[in-house]
Amino acid sequence: MIENNLHKVHQRIAIACVAAGRLEQSVTLLVVGKTFPSADLRAAFDAGARCFGENYVAEALDKINVLGDLRERIQWHLIGPLQANKTRAVAEHFDWVHSIDRLKVAQRLSEQRPAHLPPLQLCLQVNISGEASKSGLGVDDVPDVARAVASLPRVRLRGLMSVPAPATDPAAQREPHARLRELLTQLQQQGLALDTLSMGMTGDLEAAIAEGSTIVRVGTAIFGAR
Ligand SMILES: *Cc1c(COP(=O)(O)O)cnc(C)c1O
Repeated sequence: MIENNLHKVHQRIAIACVAAGRLEQSVTLLVVGKTFPSADLRAAFDAGARCFGENYVAEALDKINVLGDLRERIQWHLIGPLQANKTRAVAEHFDWVHSIDRLKVAQRLSEQRPAHLPPLQLCLQVNISGEASKSGLGVDDVPDVARAVASLPRVRLRGLMSVPAPATDPAAQREPHARLRELLTQLQQQGLALDTLSMGMTGDLEAAIAEGSTIVRVGTAIFGAR
């Protein structure tokens, strides 16, 4: 089931890339496993998945431990909110964090990243739809925070991430993704070497790829409803 679902998601990505005139290899599938057991993640690994996204630090650390035999071959990405008091374990055990919404959290991750590991790869989470309830930096705050994070030594700022307000109409889905892409372009024009747009989930990955997504984060289409 998981293998078949993964195959279908790769087909959706491939079709969206053709429609957008992009290479399929330009989009990374991040397999989002929150609430699903390690055995399901192992099944996804056996079916070829290599990049895994988790929302909750404690749940993720447990899975990283249980799947320890695969550690060298898996990239672990934190995509959920990160409190300052949980940064040490994240700095020690993850490869990426997509949900940076404050300079302080990035500073702590940089201080706590062990010297024997490569730099922790970071994205700034942007509240692109401007919803009061959503986490993420306001659009106007992004340039200053991006410059500050990019100058930290043990982390590497790669780009931007967003979770837009849900929409079903394809044009409405594309609009916030287009704004995140424009914001990335603006930062690149200011001299920051960024290459990542983490946007698109089960319901809107085609719209995200049409607007330049380089990492789609997909859970439901692979593991089922939560
Ligand atoms: C759960 C989650 C996803 C995956 O969403 P699906 O709709 O299940 O594909 C992607 N990104 C974030 C930040 C999430 O919390």
